[in-house]
Amino acid sequence: MTELIEQKYRAFHQQLDKLAGPGRQFGNFIDGAAVDSASGATLEVANPARKQVFATVQASDAADIDRAVRAATAQLEGGPWSRLSGAQRGRLMQRLADLVERDAELLGMMDALSIGRPVAETQILDLPNVADTLRYFAGWADKITGETIPTGGYFGHPTHSYTRREPVGVVGAILPWNTPLMITLWKVAPALAAGCTLVLKPAEETPLSALHLARLMQEAGFPDGVLNVVTGLGETVGDALVKHPGVAKITFTGGPEAGRIIGRNAADSFKRVSLELGGKTPQIVFDDAALDAALQGIAMGLFFNQGEVCAAGTRILAQRSLCDELCERLGAVARTIRLGDPLAPDTQMGSLASKAQFERVSGYLAVANDDGAQLVAGGTTDDRRGYFVSPTVFRGDNRMRIAQEEIFGPVGIVIPFDDEADALRLANDSRYGLAASIWTSNVGRAHRMAGQVRAGAVWINCWAAIDARLPWGGVKTSGTGRENGRTALDAYTETKAVTVLL
Ligand code: NAD
Repeated sequence: MTELIEQKYRAFHQQLDKLAGPGRQFGNFIDGAAVDSASGATLEVANPARKQVFATVQASDAADIDRAVRAATAQLEGGPWSRLSGAQRGRLMQRLADLVERDAELLGMMDALSIGRPVAETQILDLPNVADTLRYFAGWADKITGETIPTGGYFGHPTHSYTRREPVGVVGAILPWNTPLMITLWKVAPALAAGCTLVLKPAEETPLSALHLARLMQEAGFPDGVLNVVTGLGETVGDALVKHPGVAKITFTGGPEAGRIIGRNAADSFKRVSLELGGKTPQIVFDDAALDAALQGIAMGLFFNQGEVCAAGTRILAQRSLCDELCERLGAVARTIRLGDPLAPDTQMGSLASKAQFERVSGYLAVANDDGAQLVAGGTTDDRRGYFVSPTVFRGDNRMRIAQEEIFGPVGIVIPFDDEADALRLANDSRYGLAASIWTSNVGRAHRMAGQVRAGAVWINCWAAIDARLPWGGVKTSGTGRENGRTALDAYTETKAVTVLL
C-alpha cells in the first residue's frame, strides 16, 4: 500500500515537472504566457499532510496585476474576445468543460494535495461540479437578453426604448483554498458567459489548478488575455487587484475579515462587489427525523473536507428528547472516520490545510474546554507528520464561542432545543446566515422552518445540495450577492437603456 501511494506521488510530481520544468516553478499566466513576477519573488506550495513542499509559484505584486489587467482590458476593448458572439463563447466554454474532464485527475490532485484533503473527494464532488457549472453557463452565453420597454415618448414625439445587457468589464476574482477550482468556476463561468475578462488571484495555498485552467483555456481556443492568473499574497497582490482602476468588479470568496477590507477598498472606486464569506450552519434535527438515514448526512455536513467548508453544519441543534441518542451515535460515527494520507484509498479525512489552520482549530479545542463544553468524541491533535485533528463533537449551548465563531475544522457542537420556536430562535442566533439543514419527516414543519430561518440556502433532509442552477450566497456576515443560477449573470452584466426618437 505504502509503495502504491509513493508511486502516485511520483507520477503527480512528474506531471508537474512536465508543466513547469524540473524545478516545478510555475509562472503567472498573463496574456497567454507563463511569466515570472516583476520582482522575481516566489512562494512555496506544500502538502500539509506530509509537510512537504512540491512546487513554487510567483509572489507577485502590483506591477504584475497591472500587466494582467492591461491584457484583460485589451480583449474587452476591440480584441478578438469582444467580437465573439454569445454562441461562440458558449462553444468555447463547452470545449473547456471537455478539457477539464480530460484533466480531472490532475486538477483534483493539484487542489487536494495542496490542502491535505482526500483526492477521491475532488473526483466525486469538485470536478464534476466544475464541468457542470461550465456547461450550465455555456448554455446561457447566447441567452443574455435585454427588454423592449414601452415608454411615454419625448416632448410629444414617440420613442422606441430597449435595454442591453453588456459585460461589466474586467473582473477581479479572489479565491479561497478549501474547494479552489470549484469556487473558481462559480466566478469564471458566469463571467465568461457574460463576455467579461478576468484576473484571478488564487489563495496562497492552492494556486496550481487556476494556473492549469488558464492553460486549458488556451488549448480550448480562448483568445489570450481573457483569463489571467496572478499568484501571491492577499495583502499585496489581492490588495492591488481590488484597488486597480481598470477592474470593474471584484468577486471574493473567503473570510469576513478579508471581505470587510476588500469591500471598503472596492468602494473607493465604486467597483461592483460580491462577497461570499463564512458560515456557522445549523443542522436542526427534530425528534421526528429518520435518524438512521439522517445520521450519515449530519456527520458528512460536519466533517466533509475536514470541516473546512463555509457551509459546514457545525451547530447541531437537537430536539431535547433525542439529544442524548444523537450525541452518542454521532460520536460513534466520528470515532470510525479514518484519517490518513490524501492518496491512500481508505482515507476518509485528511489533514488540515496548513500550520495556521492547525493552530486555529487546536486553539478552539482549548476554548471549548475553557467554556465548559462537554467532549463527546475526538478532541485530539497530531502534527508529527502532517496537521491532523480528529473528528470532534462537543455538547454545549449556543452562546459558547465554538457555537458562535467559525472554526473551519472538524469540530461541531450539539445543542439541545425544546420546540420549533426554540429551534428557530437558536438557528437565527448567529452573526452568520449562509445555509441551514433541517432534518424532519414533517413536511409542514420543514417548509415553515425553511421560510423563517435566516440563510441563503436551506436543505431539508440533506446537506450541501449545491448545484450550478441554484443561487448560492449568504445573508448577514455570510456576505452579499449570489453566485450560480440565472441571477449570477446579473452580477457580470451592466444594463444600458437605449432610447430612439421615432
Ligand atoms: P481568507 O479570507 O484569508 O483569504 C481568501 C482570499 O483572499 C485569499 O486568496 C487571500 O490571499 C485573499 N486576501 C486576504 N486578504 C486580502 C486583502 N486584504 N485584500 C485582497 N485579498 C486578500 O480566507 P481563506 O482562509 O482562504 O478561506 C477561508 C474562509 O473563506 C472561511 O471564512 C470560509 O467560510 C470562507 N469561504 C466561503 C465560501 C462561500 O461560498 N461563502 C466558500 C469557501 C470559503
